[in-house]
Amino acid sequence: MEDIRASEVAGFCVGGLLLVVALAVPKVDSFIANSQRSSLGICERCGGLKVVSCSKCKGLGKVNTRMFSLNNKVASKLGAGKEDSFAPCQNCGAKGCFNCPKCSRC
Ligand SMILES: [Zn+2]
Ligand SMILES: [Zn+2]
Repeated sequence: MEDIRASEVAGFCVGGLLLVVALAVPKVDSFIANSQRSSLGICERCGGLKVVSCSKCKGLGKVNTRMFSLNNKVASKLGAGKEDSFAPCQNCGAKGCFNCPKCSRC
């Protein structure tokens, strides 16, 4: 019985180890990717594109104003909101992207 118990414990340990490795692999991958980028001189923030897309308009340069009218029933009574209406994004000045704050400053 002692042998069976020992192999069971060993199997459990190996299974746990494999699980830990499986969980750790994506983190290791991203770590390697980041270190490769910095060693190659590629910006970690923008990946060498020198621009980062606007977080408010998702790089479109315009925002759908219907998304901000929370009460659509009131908006439709007022005659607005039947069609999608876009306004230039105030966050990025309708450009959709910014110069990368990390690498475009040189
Ligand atoms: Zn924007
Ligand atoms: Zn950059």
